[in-house]
Amino acid sequence: MRYIKTFNESSDLYNTIISDCKDILLDLTDVGIRCGVDGGIKWDGVDSQINADKVKIEIEASSHSKVRLGDFGLSFEHLLSYLESKGYILDSKGSFYENDDWDSYEECPECRSTNVSYDSFTNGERNWGSDYKCGKCGHVGDVDNFQSPSHPISKSELLNSIRNNYYIDFMYLVFLKKKS
Ligand SMILES: [Zn+2]
Repeated sequence: MRYIKTFNESSDLYNTIISDCKDILLDLTDVGIRCGVDGGIKWDGVDSQINADKVKIEIEASSHSKVRLGDFGLSFEHLLSYLESKGYILDSKGSFYENDDWDSYEECPECRSTNVSYDSFTNGERNWGSDYKCGKCGHVGDVDNFQSPSHPISKSELLNSIRNNYYIDFMYLVFLKKKS
């Protein structure tokens, strides 16, 4: 006979995953780093419910010190392997991190190419009043639409950032359930 999961069983399992993630991040929360773990919300047009296909994790440094990723390498590796064991994969499209001291991340808002630059130069200098242009699709627009403080992060970039002990102010990780 086919086993059919009832809603409550699957939501219990999901709540366990969320609380396990919080436990894994205790090394961070113990030293005052804010860690938010929750699911997405699915809206079907009438009702909203927890989206068990998604786990969202927010890591926020306290106002007086940044988070040194290398200090928590084991926690992050544990988090990645735990969620992978439950079928959740880090989504590099939705995940990002920020450090107020970094340059903006530059990307075309149309085609997401990072081959973008100021459209015009004056004597080899950036002309700050000018527009930005995409070298791939040719889209031209306001600088603000091309620049963001949020740098996208993939699993390999996260592991690399831990190895290089990057400092961050904020990190948002989205894990999506692998379709079986
Ligand atoms: Zn483009």
